Amino acid sequence: MRFHTFLLKYGEIGIKGKNRYLFEDALVRQVRYALKDVPGEFKVYKKQARIYVDCDGEYDYEEAAQQLKKVFGLVGICPVVRLTDKGFDELKKDVVSYMDEMYEDKAFTFKVESRRSRKTYPKNSMEISRDLGEAILEAFPEIRVDVHHPDVTVNIEVRDEVYVYSQIIPGAGGMPVGTNGKAMLLLSGGIDSPVAGYMVSKRGVGIEATYFHAPPYTSERAKQKVIELAQKIAEYSGPIKLHVVNFTDIQLYIYDQCPHDELTILMRRYMMRIAEHFARKDGCLGLITGESIGQVASQTMQSLAATNDVCTLPVYRPLIGFDKQEIVDVAEKIDTYETSIQPFEDCCTIFVAKHPVTKPNIDVIRRSEERLDEKIDALVSEAVSTAEILDIK
Ligand code: ATP
Ligand code: MG
Repeated sequence: MRFHTFLLKYGEIGIKGKNRYLFEDALVRQVRYALKDVPGEFKVYKKQARIYVDCDGEYDYEEAAQQLKKVFGLVGICPVVRLTDKGFDELKKDVVSYMDEMYEDKAFTFKVESRRSRKTYPKNSMEISRDLGEAILEAFPEIRVDVHHPDVTVNIEVRDEVYVYSQIIPGAGGMPVGTNGKAMLLLSGGIDSPVAGYMVSKRGVGIEATYFHAPPYTSERAKQKVIELAQKIAEYSGPIKLHVVNFTDIQLYIYDQCPHDELTILMRRYMMRIAEHFARKDGCLGLITGESIGQVASQTMQSLAATNDVCTLPVYRPLIGFDKQEIVDVAEKIDTYETSIQPFEDCCTIFVAKHPVTKPNIDVIRRSEERLDEKIDALVSEAVSTAEILDIK
């Protein structure tokens, strides 16, 4: 079937007035961005509370649909056949051929739903639905009408041309990126943080990211893996500014000065501080982590409190109540799972203690940090100023 247009439906009740217009404009922008590398010419515009993508020349349908499925804010993607109006008898024939081509097996129920934005059309919408329904019934003996719970709704919209569609591909849901500011994701090579970034971005939030590595203890391959994960998130969130921070000296220094069972917590506190520094500099409104209560020693309620203690921006933890399997399910859906499970050392796992504290006391942790003195400030400044900045598309 040759489709000439995508009709894009969006949800989110309650976007009214000025907000609706911002929402739609952001959506148009995101749709254009999603299609920019798809072969073909696409005209994206809004009209009567819908977004349309006209694809008049040759284009790659599969790839276009694939890309549209990643645009947050869309709830449905309808591929449309546009027919030139050559009178109602021709329309009947064309709609019958449409049904024939779309549905090889016709043992299903249907109804026709019509709208007429061209009021001069000789039939009203009731008549259009009834007469086209009849034509379909006559053409295909197995097909049945069910006006209450049809398997297929054939939508007819009479404008200058006649739009026909019956398929609704589910969209990604959420809100268009750019309608809810920006946040800084602490992105490791694990399973959780990419999912956390995806989930916050789904609510319309643009993403920046910070990754801490510890060369030569962690390899170039580990860094490549994080870049690959950022690319996968960027397919949904749009471009990501990724900060790659060399954390080696900070880690070695903490290792040298502090009790080893507190190492992970102390390291996490420095990660939060550094990520927050970049976040503030770029106007991010919060931090995002992939933490989930009780998953590991560093994610007990006490550990989370100890990590949170150093943050002044809100920390968003969208996976907080998720079980591992639930996180894995999302990772598989967004195609980050296979990359995440590649076995490369994360900077945290190298210096990790055999028996880390599971119930750190914040006062004790703060006292341990006092041993780090001014030297740690110099190391942090060094790490910040030498961070590598990558634009991930
Ligand atoms: P993940 O699967 O996201 O790595 P995890 O279960 O391994 O999570 P931790 O290693 O305790 O958990 O990390 C908790 C969170 O801290 C991560 O989800 C991530 O947001 C952040 N984080 C951990 N290590 C790094 C790192 N090397 N660089 C950036 N952020 C990190
Ligand atoms: Mg990890």
